[in-house]
Amino acid sequence: MNNALALIPHFINGQAVPTSSGRSQPVFNPATGMPVAQVGLASSDEVNAAVSAASAAAPAWAETAPLKRARVLFKFKELIEKHHDDLAALITREHGKVFSDAKGEVIRGLEIVEFACGAPQLLKTQFTDNIGGGIDNWQLRQPLGVTAGITPFNFPVMVPLWMAPMAIACGNTFVLKPSERDPSPSLMMAELFKQAGLPDGVFNVVQGDKVAVDALLQHPDVKAVSFVGSTPIAEYIYAQGSQRKGAYPLRVQALGGAKNHLVVMPDADLDQAVDALIGAAYGSAGERCMAISVAVAVGGIADKLIEALIPRVKALKVKNGMEADAEMGPVVTAVHKEKIESYIAQGVQAGAKLLVDGRGLTVPGHEQGFFLGGTLFDQVTPEMTIYRDEIFGPVLCVVRVPDMGAAINLINAHEFGNGVALFTSDGNTAREFSRRIEVGMVGVNVPIPVPMAWHSFGGWKRSLFGDAHVYGEEGVRFYTRYKSIMQRWPESISKGAEFTMPVAK
Ligand code: NAD
Repeated sequence: MNNALALIPHFINGQAVPTSSGRSQPVFNPATGMPVAQVGLASSDEVNAAVSAASAAAPAWAETAPLKRARVLFKFKELIEKHHDDLAALITREHGKVFSDAKGEVIRGLEIVEFACGAPQLLKTQFTDNIGGGIDNWQLRQPLGVTAGITPFNFPVMVPLWMAPMAIACGNTFVLKPSERDPSPSLMMAELFKQAGLPDGVFNVVQGDKVAVDALLQHPDVKAVSFVGSTPIAEYIYAQGSQRKGAYPLRVQALGGAKNHLVVMPDADLDQAVDALIGAAYGSAGERCMAISVAVAVGGIADKLIEALIPRVKALKVKNGMEADAEMGPVVTAVHKEKIESYIAQGVQAGAKLLVDGRGLTVPGHEQGFFLGGTLFDQVTPEMTIYRDEIFGPVLCVVRVPDMGAAINLINAHEFGNGVALFTSDGNTAREFSRRIEVGMVGVNVPIPVPMAWHSFGGWKRSLFGDAHVYGEEGVRFYTRYKSIMQRWPESISKGAEFTMPVAK
């Protein structure tokens, strides 16, 4: 452990708690390539302490009226607005993304808080007066108890906010296990929740790795886990959930990786399609689960598209994300940079045409930073690893197909189905494409169609394991248990036992 660096703690029962596991790892500023802190990695005992705090807080929070829960969330929203720049700066420091993009991330998370502020309305259910014989029937949506979230590095504020405000609005307590690569923003959010008046133990943070994740999955008090991250881990988490025995099997939603295509039809506005591709492929250095990593050029548009893309990719301003005119920052770690470079080498070896090579880029004053330039491949084919795998970096592959049917077949054959976009000026093409494509989130002339807070987010195929998408009404369903109640009063009860199936009378 490097003692000169601050140790990022857990947040348990309303307090910052330093790790006692003896394990920690450095957190880097990707722009400088230097460590900025150490993060403690929880032991299972530390996870158990966080779950105990969440269990202890659960009954009172479940009994707190939804309107009172919402008032805490309203205050939390105000505090996030007040600390918008501080949160964004922390994201840029540990993730590397451009500051203005980090500010956008905070806003997209804030929108879920705003949605969750509607808790009294969201938790309202249906009531049927007098189903017969003086009996009324209605539903409850009751909280589950302790819930947990395991989140990826690429949205250290937004993804935790996809989960925690919904869980808390629904009357649950929450334990967050953020990514160990950019753990600080979660602690700031914990402090803001506390300042907003959230009772101790309702929102907790455990820093850590697989040890912490496994301890959460195995803890009998944890009733539901939301996971967002890569597909192999999503699959693992989902399998663990379905294997747990007991009265309350673990409820799991596990969102995985992606390979998102943007189809450019011959009738598309070329300038608009190129702008969309540049922003969606290279924004946040391609480290977005909704980033576009494949451009599907339909018919004769490919050559014109390539010609327009090349100078734009070469001109990308790749810099420290805190610089005002930066368009793309570094990637998250040195290891991730090497992985992306190795994919570029594999693409070349497989015969794809490397038109712009982002390897070997040096940013003056940031020679140790984890920078890569934008990379563009043409003549990519479906069997190449650069097409099949999620690279999660600033690498755009162009695949050429003859018509829309071939574009749909290509995309539907891919194992991932998170997001997709179509650029066209024809309404019928858009309609047909949207109906036939096997992908969870579709954009028509919209490159990154991340649904708003009241429309739930989630992919298809190996981009989502479990039934529920995150946030929105699906979030309410995920974080509550449904109960039906039938009730009548003695005046309506007729005498004598009934031996036939009860029917409305
Ligand atoms: P990751 O899968 O490496 O890590 C995600 C979380 O899982 C982290 O909290 C990490 O500590 C934990 N983890 C890592 N290895 C583990 C293991 N062996 N056992 C248990 N837990 C483990 O993902 P990442 O690199 O942080 O994030 C990038 C990935 O997340 C990409 O694949 C991206 O597509 C995906 N992602 C998906 C969405 C979505 O909505 N579908 C959103 C954001 C990111």
